[in-house]
Amino acid sequence: MSKQLILALSKGRILDETLPLLADAGITPAEDLGKSRKLLFDTNLADVKLVVIRATDVPTYVQLGAADLGIAGKDVLLEHGAEGLYEPLDLDIARCKLMTAGVTGQQPALARRRVATKFVNIARRYYAEQGIQAEVIKLYGAMELAPLMNLADEIVDIVDTGNTLRANGMEPRELIAHISTRLVVNKAAMTMKHERIKPLLARLDSAVKKRQ
Ligand code: ATP
Ligand code: MG
Repeated sequence: MSKQLILALSKGRILDETLPLLADAGITPAEDLGKSRKLLFDTNLADVKLVVIRATDVPTYVQLGAADLGIAGKDVLLEHGAEGLYEPLDLDIARCKLMTAGVTGQQPALARRRVATKFVNIARRYYAEQGIQAEVIKLYGAMELAPLMNLADEIVDIVDTGNTLRANGMEPRELIAHISTRLVVNKAAMTMKHERIKPLLARLDSAVKKRQ
């Protein structure tokens, strides 16, 4: 294994909250991530590099050891599965909820439901646990549209304020999980590169605690 530590960051919303946390932990990219087209960045720490990738790709990079560590939403981790990953730290950013939602005032069908979501594994697991038969339909965005267009009876999606749901005539129903952003570590790297990873975990841990 190389001497470098590669930390995979989730592009998008999480990145905006990750960079200040990394700065608090004493880790700063060598150049402005937002202004560059590059995907791989040096940092102020000689042995730490950053890659910036799609949030849903972070668990794959870390699981397969292409990155040693990663920062990803718990929703993404639940959907992807946690095989080969340790999840040592809750970074306490990008808090939200995974919920079911449906058209306001409409009673969900008891017997069989059509559910639109990008979280198909989470949805299948959740409805099975509830003893509800669900036909899960994979979508890549604009889940709020599905019930309005009679594509689905219900959706499973991230809810923060619920404003997007309400703006589309929908309401949150059941809570599936509280979500926040987590640090994940490749299991083999945790053993093989423990001396390097340990101080990095300590820096991040104290940066998180300082904020609480
Ligand atoms: P894309 O929009 O490219 O399909 P994405 O939806 O996974 O990807 P983001 O919208 O940036 O990307 O969300 C990334 C992560 O941020 C989610 O996986 C979740 O953990 C968290 N998140 C999403 N929406 C919210 C929200 N409204 N409030 C707080 N955290 C959120
Ligand atoms: Mg999004």
